[in-house]
Amino acid sequence: AKSSGRSALSFFDPTMQAELLARVRLENELRQALANEEWRLHYQPQVDQDGRCIGVEALLRWEHPERGLVTPDVFIHLLESTELINPVGDWVLETACRQLAQWARQPAFAKLSVAVNVSALQFRQVDFVGKVEAILQRTGAPCHKLKLEVTESLFVEARDDAREKMLRLKQHGVRFALDDYGTGYSSLAYLAHLPLDQLKIDKSFVQQVIESKANAAIVESTIALAKSLSLEVIAEGVASDAQQTWLLSHGCRTYQGHRYGQPMPLAALETQLTTEHAS
Ligand code: C2E
Ligand code: CA
Ligand code: CA
Ligand code: CA
Repeated sequence: AKSSGRSALSFFDPTMQAELLARVRLENELRQALANEEWRLHYQPQVDQDGRCIGVEALLRWEHPERGLVTPDVFIHLLESTELINPVGDWVLETACRQLAQWARQPAFAKLSVAVNVSALQFRQVDFVGKVEAILQRTGAPCHKLKLEVTESLFVEARDDAREKMLRLKQHGVRFALDDYGTGYSSLAYLAHLPLDQLKIDKSFVQQVIESKANAAIVESTIALAKSLSLEVIAEGVASDAQQTWLLSHGCRTYQGHRYGQPMPLAALETQLTTEHAS
């Protein structure tokens, strides 16, 4: 009929159809990726004011048979919308904890902590705490070296549930960082209410900290807020000496960013740390 012509036309729009097909294909490939063992963890150093690596952040990569190494911006939202984030998130936690347990037995690496990103969906699973406990037990990872990075979106709904789960995990020594601070729903109320250990200043503020007065003001007040709440603070996306110097002079003593190393495979990280250790 004439009246339906328009929607039929847009439905069969060839570019839209191509996009839809690409999306469906990607989704199917993501479903296969776990079984095909295509997930990888890369590790990015977190350093103290003397440049010593005190820990790493584990970052998910997808080693696609044709496309090569794929970064999360391409697929995280799809994992979340299909709830594949739960099995993949389990794999991330298990792999990071196995690594943590291995490092704990090697003097050169024994002090490292590992930060793992946990999406709000994953955290909201009824059995999330039990899963983490089982993984810690199974792998023998030192609990106090595991840090979970959560975002503000977790606290928009079910804040009391989040708090209760965090407290249960903290009883084992697990620590919590608030990721991407300042980019989301920023309500100061939840900061005081939640048992956090660390604030992570988002790279979008850090990258312009020298050039932009506004960003400098945001970073300064975040550092002050962390201090007054007795939280550790780490700056993400530090790319230059000048940025580190600025951050240090404003009281931030822990850093992560390309200045100290990009996210890298395990072997490359261990080589970098061993070389630093020897020098
Ligand atoms: P994020 O948690 O904020 O991680 C930091 C991102 O900044 C990483 O991107 C890292 O490679 C990048 N980065 C670090 N230093 C610099 C720098 O100096 N300059 C610039 N331009 N970028 C820097 P990546 O690895 O692509 O990860 C993107 C996001 O994907 C992460 O952002 C996180 O939200 C999500 N993600 C990564 N791995 C996981 C995971 O295992 N689980 C979940 N749920 N999310 C993950
Ligand atoms: Ca993170
Ligand atoms: Ca971040
Ligand atoms: Ca981010």
